[in-house]
Amino acid sequence: MLAVVTVVSEPHADAGHPEQPARVTAIQAALAHSSLHERLTALRPVPATLEQVTRVHTPDYVAALGRAVHGPPRIIEPAPTYITPESFDCALLAAGGAIQAVETALAPTAREGELSGAFALVRPPGHHAMPEGAMGFCLFNNVAIAARHAQALGAGKVMIADIDLHHGNGTQAAFEEDPSVLFLSTHQNSLYPFASGPEDAMGLGAGVGCTLNIPLPPGSGDGAYERICEEIIVPAADRFGPDLLLVSAGFDAHWRDPLGELQLSARGYGRIVQTLRAIAMRHCGGKIALVLEGGYDLQALPACVLASLGALLGDEDLPDPIGPARSSEPDVRPLLQRVRLRHGL
Ligand SMILES: [Zn+2]
Repeated sequence: MLAVVTVVSEPHADAGHPEQPARVTAIQAALAHSSLHERLTALRPVPATLEQVTRVHTPDYVAALGRAVHGPPRIIEPAPTYITPESFDCALLAAGGAIQAVETALAPTAREGELSGAFALVRPPGHHAMPEGAMGFCLFNNVAIAARHAQALGAGKVMIADIDLHHGNGTQAAFEEDPSVLFLSTHQNSLYPFASGPEDAMGLGAGVGCTLNIPLPPGSGDGAYERICEEIIVPAADRFGPDLLLVSAGFDAHWRDPLGELQLSARGYGRIVQTLRAIAMRHCGGKIALVLEGGYDLQALPACVLASLGALLGDEDLPDPIGPARSSEPDVRPLLQRVRLRHGL
């Protein structure tokens, strides 16, 4: 079964900001007009508890954010993260949506050989949020909270594949010393948060080897990601052998997105999700949960989500009403070769 949990967070909004409620309502509208929705189960979101959130975030940060939102709507440091009086509750609901996605994926009702998946279509996004503070549009780290919740429910090894345009620095920070979580991130190099996510950041202490960064040159697109899936993601997953696969599903690496210069298409995203689905079927008994991160073009974002849902449902033929990028791609073979060598793949 494939479930969807949707959190629009209407009152968490700042006029003119790219991270806006229309991102999720555009996905809802596209789903309503697609036959895909007949094949999905809708879940009602439940807010995360403070106990669940503080498995990742420091109690001091959570308490400070709870106090800070009571002032006027404003940008907080580090910019460009905004808060409104409702932001704390919206962030709890987004984290709760990610938790529900994981609970659905782990539900014992799943039948042998079938996908047990969910997609948390939630905002605000999470992967920049650090254990001790907000960052980059993110208040709570939804995917990290979901990973810790899964482990509290008995999942041993969790793999997090972060396919957002940006490096998931908050997620890396949450798990970099932890060998039970493999964090793998593809992202445009030298983009926000700038010095974050170089190929030589491989984890710390007992977690060395369990952080795997693939910083891509501008222009990288479907061809580069096909190689990455085949040459890095699949062998890294086969070696790690996760019990659960989580995906930080950011769609701002689409060629139309205004925030970056990667060139994935909606179908290219769908192909990545086909690879991730196959990993989940092979290693995790079909248990996979996707959590929405970025994606700021209101045409590309729904197209990417629909292609990803089709891929999760096992469709071979993935819709792409927008089509591929028209520019050529840089050669990423030397980069992938270095990453493979560094990680012994
Ligand atoms: Zn992003």
